[in-house]
Amino acid sequence: MTAKIHILDSQAANQIAAGEVVERPVSVVKELIENALDAQATQIEVIIEGSGVERIRVQDNGQGISAADLPLTVLRHATSKIRSIDDLNRLRTLGFRGEALPSIASVSRLEIISRPPEEISGRVLRIQGGEQREFSETGCPPGTTITVDDLFYNTPARRKFLKSKNTEFGQISDVIGRLSLARPDVSFTLKHPKVLVLQTPGKGNLLESIGAVLGQATARRLLPLSCSQGDWRLEGYISPPDLVRSTKQGETLIVNERIIRSNSISRAISEGYHTLIPAKLYPITILKLHIPPHEYDVNVHPTKMEIRFHKEKELMEFIAEGVRRTLLQARPIAPFVKVK
Ligand code: ADP
Ligand code: MG
Repeated sequence: MTAKIHILDSQAANQIAAGEVVERPVSVVKELIENALDAQATQIEVIIEGSGVERIRVQDNGQGISAADLPLTVLRHATSKIRSIDDLNRLRTLGFRGEALPSIASVSRLEIISRPPEEISGRVLRIQGGEQREFSETGCPPGTTITVDDLFYNTPARRKFLKSKNTEFGQISDVIGRLSLARPDVSFTLKHPKVLVLQTPGKGNLLESIGAVLGQATARRLLPLSCSQGDWRLEGYISPPDLVRSTKQGETLIVNERIIRSNSISRAISEGYHTLIPAKLYPITILKLHIPPHEYDVNVHPTKMEIRFHKEKELMEFIAEGVRRTLLQARPIAPFVKVK
C-alpha cells in the first residue's frame, strides 16, 4: 500500500495559516503595525487604497531589517522575538509567532523595503503568491515600508467574503484608533489615499490621543481612572453614565500595550456601571491594564487578540471596583457639569 499522508508544501501551509492570521484587510494592517511597534518605531504612517484589498502600505521609522534577515522574514515560524516557549512568560513584544509575513506573502503581492538606520543603503524584497520575485539593493529612508497589493488575489473564496469598501475601511480605521490609544507615545497617521483620516500627536499623552481618535468633545467629558492592587495597575478614562453609545465600539482594552478583546473584562466594566446605564447602551472606556506577563497567556488564538488570565476572578473584581469607585467619586459633580 502506498502512503496516503504527505507534507504540504510551504505555500499551501502558509495559505492555510493565512486563513486564521489574515482574515481580512484589517488583520494585515494590525499585524504590520504591531511589527512596526516591535521595531521601536515612533512614527507609523498607513496608506489604504479602496477597502485595503487594493493596497495597504505601512511605513515606519523603526530599527529596520538587515540584508541578511530580510529574506528570512517571509519564512514560516521565523521570528527575532522569541527563542523558546518559555520566553512567552516574559514577552515584551506584540509578535512572537513568526506567521504574519509568510501568511500575508502567500495571499498577496508583497513588497518589503527596509534599511536599518546604521546602514547606508537598504534592500527591497518582492514576493508574489509566496514566491520571491526580487531581492536587491535600493536607496530608501531608514526604517521599513511594507506594501501589500491585491490581497487574496489567489484565494477567491476569501475575497468573496469581504464586506463593502466602507465596512472594511471602517474596521481599519477603528483598529488604528485603538492601537494609537495603546501607544500615545507613537505618532500614527492614516491616509485614504490622499485624505488624512487620522493623525495622533505621539507625545505620550493619552487624553490627547483620545481627542484625536474620538473627538475633543468626548475626550473633555471623560473621567480619569487610576487604581492598583499589588502588581496590578489599571488606568485610563471612562465616560460618565450619561455619555453612552448604542454599541460596544466605545470600549478599548489594552493589556501591557496589546489591544485585546475580553468578554470577562467587558462584563466587569458593566458591573462597575451597575444600574447607572440602561440595558443596550454602553459607556466609552479606554482602559489599560498593567500586569506581569507570566500572569496571563496570549497564545490562545493566532490573532493574539484573546488572552487568558490566571487569576481571572480576582482581576475582574479589581477592574469592576476601579470603575465603580471612579464613578462614585465623580457623581457629586455630574449634575453641575450637566447644567453648564
Ligand atoms: P513576528 O512578529 O511574530 O516575529 P512576523 O511574520 O510578523 O513575525 O515578522 C517576522 C520578522 O520580521 C519579525 O520577527 C521581525 O524580525 C521582522 N520584521 C517584520 N516587520 C518589521 C518591521 N516593520 N521592522 C523591523 N523588523 C520587522
Ligand atoms: Mg509580527
